[in-house]
Amino acid sequence: MSKPSLADHEWAKIPGSNNIDLSNDNTHNMHTMRDMLNKTGPGFCLAKWTQVSMHLGTGMTHSCHHPTPHKIPLDEIAANPSALHNTQFKKTLRKQMLNGERPSECDYCWRIEDGSKEFSDRTSKSLNQFSFGDHDIIAHSSGDEDVYPRYMEISWNNTCNFKCAYCGPNFSSRWTEEIATQGHYDLPHHGGYNWTDDLQYLEREQNPYIDAFWQWFPAASTHLHTLRITGGEPLMSKHTFRLMESLLENPNPSLELAINSNGCPPDKLWQRFIDLVNQLIDGKCIKKFILYTSAEAWGTASEYLRHGMDFDLWKRNIEQFLHDTRETKVTVMSAFNVLSMSSFKSLLEYVLSLKKQYNHNGMFAYLESSGMDVNSQLIRPAMTTDFSHTELVSFSARSSAAEWSTRVGIDIPYVRQPDFLDPKAATLELLNQCLMPAVDFMFRNLSNPDWNCNTGFEVWEASKLKRIFTSTLHYANNPTNPQYPPKLRDRLWCFVQEHDRRRGTDINVAFPDPVMQRFFEQCRSEH
Ligand code: SF4
Repeated sequence: MSKPSLADHEWAKIPGSNNIDLSNDNTHNMHTMRDMLNKTGPGFCLAKWTQVSMHLGTGMTHSCHHPTPHKIPLDEIAANPSALHNTQFKKTLRKQMLNGERPSECDYCWRIEDGSKEFSDRTSKSLNQFSFGDHDIIAHSSGDEDVYPRYMEISWNNTCNFKCAYCGPNFSSRWTEEIATQGHYDLPHHGGYNWTDDLQYLEREQNPYIDAFWQWFPAASTHLHTLRITGGEPLMSKHTFRLMESLLENPNPSLELAINSNGCPPDKLWQRFIDLVNQLIDGKCIKKFILYTSAEAWGTASEYLRHGMDFDLWKRNIEQFLHDTRETKVTVMSAFNVLSMSSFKSLLEYVLSLKKQYNHNGMFAYLESSGMDVNSQLIRPAMTTDFSHTELVSFSARSSAAEWSTRVGIDIPYVRQPDFLDPKAATLELLNQCLMPAVDFMFRNLSNPDWNCNTGFEVWEASKLKRIFTSTLHYANNPTNPQYPPKLRDRLWCFVQEHDRRRGTDINVAFPDPVMQRFFEQCRSEH
């Protein structure tokens, strides 16, 4: 049977443009993509070719990020460094996809497809701009080819100066040290926390996976749409700086470069990082730069959750980055968990103030297009009285970068692991007094395309917190099903007790609010 091709199908365009709309919001194109993929096979997914996440500290790889990572055989990369993405194991799965089978490791997508009419990531990732254009070549391939990915995520090793509550030895060298000297956390019900046998190559050690990466990267780089560096803390690895410098020497003007940073690297690394970002942007060596940084609580609560963090330093560094760079973005990644509840609204207020200061306000463009002099003294002050920051980025700098209309954003993923930090451990009081006002705050401060465009929260940002509220309400408000949350609270109580003992912290200092004090008392009583 002949394989389908992109040209055989009708694709909806972006209104007012000749470009195909590759967003997941375009239902017509999502349906068309799913139908086209299914003509090759019910398990066919472009991400198996176009996307890769590589954990070079442990020598693991997967594509996309949903399946469990598998080990990259050393003999394969010795013969062919592209085996970082093209292991024999992965080629077997690609052939299964081309032959009408569904690889079992992709069960995340099969559960969605079999249990609902929703689109799985198989469709959305295949429609994505980093996959779409490669459809015809991939559909006509044998599965045995070595291919270059378009979307690459890498971590060098687990070197990090933090040991966040929801992290572990695989991603934090400070966690590794603690577990090595004090053992795992022994918690009731579902067993302990942060057992690990995984061996990591350390930053100072020769690592054959990183050697293979540097052999492969010069050629792979020219095919990339997105490169994202994660950790550990990437700014504590010499390889991150080597990679940025290599892009200065060998530019890829269509590359979107992203780095996840905890925002508090030691010494002068932050300034060096900002200088390199500016050189990359000014030299047009990359297309875009996005900084992802994590915070899911405010002040001492954030420092407790992200052990090692200096919260004031984090704020100063993020503001310095926004102020001292142009045409860059910052996304605050808020891994929302039960210990975020009491201070999350304060974090939202801060993110909103950054949006107001740094995002391009759509009403300026509207007024300008209506023939107004938006720079005049008559108009600007009236527009800016709502801004809480006294120092505004100049209007000309903001308006000249219309493409950078949203330099600040927030993403709020739900923490399911470790289970004792799951938001459904919350009491009804926490939901009523803390989470509901936070959701309310986001929806009261939505960005409105008719006036304060980009300077409020986007609907998709607020909707994520709303979904967390509704799903946790089900547990907190269901006295007939009390078993699961109390077990979580029992485990959480044991975790914070052990955390305070080992690290010299104090939950009463970190979470002084009366509502959190009552929550911890509830946890203690269920122990
Ligand atoms: S089928 Fe789903 S899990 Fe598998 S690679 Fe594609 S998006 Fe990822």
